[in-house]
Amino acid sequence: MRDDRAVMSEANHHDYIVVGAGVSGIYQIKRLADLGLDAILLEADDDLGGTWYHNRYPGCRFDSESYTYGYSFSKELLEEWHWTERFSPQPENLRYLNFVAEKFDLRRHMRFESRVDAMTWDEASRTWRLDLEGGDAYTARFVITALGPLSAPTPPRYEGMDEFEGDAFHTFHWPKEEVPLAGRRVGVIGTGATGIQVIAEIADKVDELFVFQRRPNWSVPLGNSRISDEEMAEIRENYDEIFAKCKQTVGGFVHLPDRRGFHNLTPEERKAHWDELYATPGFAVLAGNFAEVFLEEAANQEMSDYIAERIRARVDDPEVAEKLIPKDHGFGIQRLPLETNYFEAYNRDNVHLVDLSEAPIERFTKTGIQTTAEHYELDLIVLATGFNIVVGSFDKIDIRGLDGVRLGDVWKDGPVTSYGFVTHGFPNLLMVAGPQSVSGSTNFPRAIEDGVDWVTGLVEHMEREGLTRIESRADVEKAWHEEVVASYERMLVRNSKGWFGGYNSNVEGHGQGTFHYVAYFGGAPRYRKLITKLAEEGYDDFDLA
Ligand code: NAP
Repeated sequence: MRDDRAVMSEANHHDYIVVGAGVSGIYQIKRLADLGLDAILLEADDDLGGTWYHNRYPGCRFDSESYTYGYSFSKELLEEWHWTERFSPQPENLRYLNFVAEKFDLRRHMRFESRVDAMTWDEASRTWRLDLEGGDAYTARFVITALGPLSAPTPPRYEGMDEFEGDAFHTFHWPKEEVPLAGRRVGVIGTGATGIQVIAEIADKVDELFVFQRRPNWSVPLGNSRISDEEMAEIRENYDEIFAKCKQTVGGFVHLPDRRGFHNLTPEERKAHWDELYATPGFAVLAGNFAEVFLEEAANQEMSDYIAERIRARVDDPEVAEKLIPKDHGFGIQRLPLETNYFEAYNRDNVHLVDLSEAPIERFTKTGIQTTAEHYELDLIVLATGFNIVVGSFDKIDIRGLDGVRLGDVWKDGPVTSYGFVTHGFPNLLMVAGPQSVSGSTNFPRAIEDGVDWVTGLVEHMEREGLTRIESRADVEKAWHEEVVASYERMLVRNSKGWFGGYNSNVEGHGQGTFHYVAYFGGAPRYRKLITKLAEEGYDDFDLA
């Protein structure tokens, strides 16, 4: 019998295969190509961009300052690229990533429409076999996953969803073609960072807008503005300083924390500081706040009360305002959405808040959504219902390590890794921005540049030393897990009922009551220090052979 597997393996072998052409995969393939290694990148979609390729929904944009989100690795790139808005919108972000790929001639290493369905480790040959949708297969000595933490969208699981005769899509799958909004009755399910962007953007473009809210989120103004040529020139002059600041801060942002100490100030002084932060664009209100707000219940309550007042001042109807103020979690404990005129949208006659905590959705119908109280006739339903964070991207691939063990089974009660880079039983599988790395809790590109640089350093080390196998050690993983858990326990984020805690009601086993430690909350500087030490000590926390 002909051994198809051997034939295909031979035809498609590469030493390194990167999976995913988003922000991290693009940089990772560049680093490998620069080293002259035999490396390719497989991407499921028909083009590059990852998050910025998919999320084309109205209002989608950065909430990190554009000039802190771009790559910092090339002075030339920094010189050449002009951001036009302080918080750049999706089309420009996608253009940027294409510009990077063209500039460094990276497309020649990329294979599109190459969805990896399964990955199987073969200990005898020390290779991974990758089976693609459609039947192609590759083998590789090392696989580097750059899957993105937010690339497994989770639509809700309501009855009758197939019966709805209008348009309905998850925001991640927003069509490339223009979606008509004018004259339509639109429903949005979900009020996370995505829902809040969509709602504010489309409120004045649709006929009627129904917001189906299960739990409100805290949100503060984004403060977007155009960047003039003069400002961009100034930004270019200051790039070194900007990135140096990002490196100092826990979240990788430009805003420095306030060190005066919550308890050393009077309530009036604290309020004056918060007034300033509220008026400052971006995540200043998190990064520039007093640490105590995120560590101590009473300080957090005072901050939450402050933001609640801000919401009340912006929403005309006091009953609606109360419904928009979170009562089940404090400010900054879940991922904070940033908004542009979100609260003002509810002052419009055509925008209606449907409180699902009072009357939950029963089912979708042919013509709309039925709650326990009412039927809503709709032409378009926007599912802004989030993602199966970090692990969902891995779950989409049938990954089998030593002795055929499935990664999905090992991680069923939450991910376990060494520093987010490797996981025991899955040799030569390197993860960029993996679970329990710092990427989930920081300005993403700042953290992934560190992650990609670290993985590349490891690759160089192994190539230099003639090493062909790396595996995570169970004892190191246990210690890292404890460090990750402690990073949550120190902070009020331990009370998160959102994706910081791995919650997602649309995924079996991820609902309230479970808690998955999906990210490292010890801050980017500490994480950088720890992983640098690993490299300096010759990677002896890992089994290298
Ligand atoms: P999310 O934060 O997980 O929010 C999902 C929303 O949908 C929540 O309000 C949730 O309610 C609701 N929901 C989920 N399932 C539901 C159901 N079956 N019925 C009713 N409501 C349901 O997801 P996201 O808004 O897409 O944001 C995910 C992450 O993407 C963000 O935290 C952020 O990291 C990133 N993001 C970034 C930007 C940016 O500006 N750069 C923009 C958008 C998103 P519950 O709270 O009750 O579960």
